[in-house]
Parts: sequence; C-alpha cells; structure tokens
Amino acid sequence: MDCLFCKIVEGTIPSTKVYESDSVLAFRDIAPAAPVHILIIPKKHIATMNDVTGEDDAVMAELFKAAREIAKEQGIAESGYRLINNVNADGGQVVYHLHVHLLGGKNVGPLLA
Ligand code: C5P
Repeated sequence: MDCLFCKIVEGTIPSTKVYESDSVLAFRDIAPAAPVHILIIPKKHIATMNDVTGEDDAVMAELFKAAREIAKEQGIAESGYRLINNVNADGGQVVYHLHVHLLGGKNVGPLLA
C-alpha cells in the first residue's frame, strides 16, 4: 500500500518522533502551522475517521491518551492547544492515513477565523 504515514511508521520515510507506543506514533508536522504542530497517528493503517470500527476502540483511546501526554510534555497542556482531524475532501484531508493534528505554543485563535 502506497501510504506516506505507513512508510513513516515503517521508518522508510524519516520523521521527528515525539511519542511512540505499541499502537500509536506521533511526529512533528513537516510544515508546522504553529510553534507546536504534531501529528498523532495509529500505526495500523486506517484511512479516515469514517473507517474507524469498534475493533479500534483501544487504539483510539491510546491516540487521545498520547495527545494528553504530548501536550503535557511540550508544556502546553495548561495554556491550551487544539486537536484537529480532517476527514475527506471537504474536511481538507490530504494524507489518507488517520491523523490528529495537535497545535499549540501560541493562541491558535477561534476555529473559523
Ligand atoms: O489533515 P491533512 O491530511 O490535511 O494533513 C496532512 C499533514 O501532513 C499536513 O499538515 C502536512 O504538512 C503533513 N505532512 C508531514 N510529513 C509529510 C507529508 C505531510 O508532516 N511527509
């Protein structure tokens, strides 16, 4: 399967990892939109949020646990941050391997500004 983020999981494409567990990986976005811009992904290939099933309950819980821990570790848990998941074309999804953007390190403002 020709998936960019699967290749990052495999290590064939380099990334700056900030968190790793058995089922989840997080790395810095290559084109950061904020001082802290980290992508959190399941290691398993799931194309979009629409493709998540009950079998993925544990990995989705792990993904949001990773978000909390990364925010704390990056020192932005208290000041605040935004989690974004883009779904399909109208949602602005470009890479079809589920990922949550963690954005912070500045006031990211109102969502639809
Ligand atoms: O949610 P969406 O699919 O639009 O986001 C994809 C994200 O993946 C972008 O923010 C882009 O900068 C990032 N990216 C990356 N490393 C790559 C390719 C894309 O961090 N090699």
